[in-house]
Amino acid sequence: MKKLNNKIVFITGGLSGIGYACATAVAEMGAKVVIADLASDKVDEIMNTIQISSPESIFVACNVSNASELSHAIDTVVEKFGSLDIALNNAGIGGEPNKTGDMTAEQWLKVININLNGVFYSMKYELLQMQKQRKGVIVNMASILGKVGFSGSGHYVAAKHGVIGLTKVAAMEYASDGIRINAICPGFIQTPLLSKAGISDHTEVLAQIVNLHPMKRLGKAEEIAQAFIFLASDDSSFVTGTALDVDGGYLTQ
Ligand code: NAP
Repeated sequence: MKKLNNKIVFITGGLSGIGYACATAVAEMGAKVVIADLASDKVDEIMNTIQISSPESIFVACNVSNASELSHAIDTVVEKFGSLDIALNNAGIGGEPNKTGDMTAEQWLKVININLNGVFYSMKYELLQMQKQRKGVIVNMASILGKVGFSGSGHYVAAKHGVIGLTKVAAMEYASDGIRINAICPGFIQTPLLSKAGISDHTEVLAQIVNLHPMKRLGKAEEIAQAFIFLASDDSSFVTGTALDVDGGYLTQ
């Protein structure tokens, strides 16, 4: 029997990077995956790949910064599969870098709306369903920058600190309902997010970032997927409210 056989797994931002690695990993472990992401012309190609291991997996177009789209996405999961076992709230953006005093309200709100409000809306509708079931697992994708600062990224750092705070509160509130809620704090991971932020193409900046990790390398999305599988499965049955660092030692310094 595969570890996540027939589990219904909802993943926001599952078309790319860490979310995609998590989706393919759980599909290979027997889960039925619902990817919620922005509509894109790569949907068919990606879903075809996931459906090789998990034919019933589906895509739902959803902008996580819009509460009603999240409500609709969770309704779709329950209509199609009857329950929601595991949710990974992962969709996120890096945001435009700027010093706090120079940051525009637009730059600030764009990141907060997706990276923090998006996690709140996701949790809200996931929890309403999981409470009815009296079981479920939620994993929120935070960051090392949910625990320490990073110059020029006030919006991102504030959002990720908020995600960890919300994870702790909800874990306390729902522990007696059989719902476990944890976060993952990746170090810098080689995904399209780094190219979108201009980091991958900037050799000097990339080298500085690599150097901040005692392991002297970036992480791989597949390494985050392994942490997700641990937190999503019964292997972590007594773990709730934690924020697990998967960071090549970044936070030990
Ligand atoms: P990624 O490759 O850019 O993937 C993020 C996915 O989320 C993309 O498919 C993106 O769609 C989608 N997305 C963006 N805005 C959305 C919205 N409003 N609604 C729904 N989906 C949306 O990034 P990643 O590196 O895998 O990041 C995943 C998560 O890990 C994020 O929360 C990020 O903050 C966190 N994280 C990443 C790193 C890292 O170094 N990569 C480190 C720590 C934490 P588009 O491609 O269409 O924008």
